[in-house]
Amino acid sequence: MILNNVRKHNCFIIQCSYIISQNTQKPDKYDQNGIYQLKRPTCHKKYIGQTGRPFRVRFREHYTDYKYACNRSKFTQHVIDEGHAFGPVNDIMDIIHFAKRRKML
Ligand SMILES: [Zn+2]
Repeated sequence: MILNNVRKHNCFIIQCSYIISQNTQKPDKYDQNGIYQLKRPTCHKKYIGQTGRPFRVRFREHYTDYKYACNRSKFTQHVIDEGHAFGPVNDIMDIIHFAKRRKML
């Protein structure tokens, strides 16, 4: 009876860590850089930008811009004016073009 419980428990842990490691090993497009587009699903307005740093970092800057109102972009101002929600990143940021990795010679 006890052995059964242990087996079940181990099995659960193995499944759990398997799922976690799958998630972390998945390459994330937001860790790359290049050209991106900000948009809202129900909105006509779009903002296209370029970054040499990870998209994730750039998104955070846009979010800070939205939240704390310093140097607002046109897109951010529009989001505020229209009462659109800002984020999450998958929802608002589309990647248009990935920058090619530079080869170190
Ligand atoms: Zn809008």
